[in-house]
Amino acid sequence: MAAVLAVGLAVVAWAEPSGLAQLGPKGARVKDAGGTVVLSVPLSQAVPWRVALRAGPPQVVVEMGDVVWSELPVIVSDSVSEARTSRAGPGWTELALVLREPLSVATAAMKVAKDGTAVLEVRLLPTTADEFHRLADPAKVEAIAGPESDRMVVALDPGHGGVDPGAVAGDLVEADLMLAAARAMKEALVRTGRFDVVLTREEDDFVSLEARLTKARAAGADVFISLHADALSAEDGSASGMTVYRLADDAAGGADALLAARHAGNDLLKGVDLSGVGDDVALA
Ligand SMILES: [Zn+2]
Repeated sequence: MAAVLAVGLAVVAWAEPSGLAQLGPKGARVKDAGGTVVLSVPLSQAVPWRVALRAGPPQVVVEMGDVVWSELPVIVSDSVSEARTSRAGPGWTELALVLREPLSVATAAMKVAKDGTAVLEVRLLPTTADEFHRLADPAKVEAIAGPESDRMVVALDPGHGGVDPGAVAGDLVEADLMLAAARAMKEALVRTGRFDVVLTREEDDFVSLEARLTKARAAGADVFISLHADALSAEDGSASGMTVYRLADDAAGGADALLAARHAGNDLLKGVDLSGVGDDVALA
């Protein structure tokens, strides 16, 4: 019988689904306040967010990590005609405020209370049509985006997937365990408000090593963490605990060289696979 090491199991046990962010009891609101228009979105917990302007028809677009939009914002403003919500890719929801007149973002901030609830407040100011269109240029969106710049970007790489299940022990499949672990880690990291997290695969799909790295680089990842859970056959003995691999300049003859050698050729096409080197390197 094979035994899956503790690394995968430990992380999954930690993965109790804690739910999506819910709207606070008062609901979201758009109202006029002293020459500005204020959107406030009370939430059961902090989520990642960003704000942008979009042309034709003019809109203020607020993207937030998974939020259950149980009701649309109440609009008490002549400047906003309508609010719409939609999905905006895996793990993101979008709130679009359709504008009657051009507005720009004066301030945007998410305040997190001690009890973990949060309020996103976006303050909008009237602007000219020319300025609106300049700001709504997709190339300029970063300039008025949310506070991502001071958050570390973490790429989590759930090993294997699709045609490559990785290690299998009874009903346990490494590819599934690592995807669940990555989703749980993403949620935990994003909740701290200190990290943006990108997953190199979102589903049980085959993703090549190159595609995983490309995705991480495109997201501007500061760190790339590849998640694997190894298994040994009974003949090979048993093991428990965790192994951590990292690159080191002085390890040219050690673990990273061994990894590189083992992943040359066909293995590379299976994605990032550390399972084959587990016991050798762990004993080193
Ligand atoms: Zn693996």
